[in-house]
Amino acid sequence: MSTTKTKAGKTTSNAKKPKRSSSSKRSSTRASRTAPAKSTTTEASATRCTSCGSTNRSEYFRTQELPTGSSPSHVRLQWTKCTDCDQHRIDRTFFDRD
Ligand SMILES: [Zn+2]
Repeated sequence: MSTTKTKAGKTTSNAKKPKRSSSSKRSSTRASRTAPAKSTTTEASATRCTSCGSTNRSEYFRTQELPTGSSPSHVRLQWTKCTDCDQHRIDRTFFDRD
């Protein structure tokens, strides 16, 4: 089994700036928007709140995997909560397990 490195999976954000310039420079034109993705889950797609449509959610507080009896073979249920309106929901992720 050969593990080939994928290029630059994670970018560790060095957000710490030791230098602090008191003078307000206008030269910084680059808009570096760092996403506050602190804990990236394995899911790539962001799920939305069924109530307000927000993608902000709490950590999954319960996870259950069930066989579906068809293809894909399993479904993962993950309970979470919208952090904007407190609407609970269950994210479903279908996957194959062999
Ligand atoms: Zn919501």
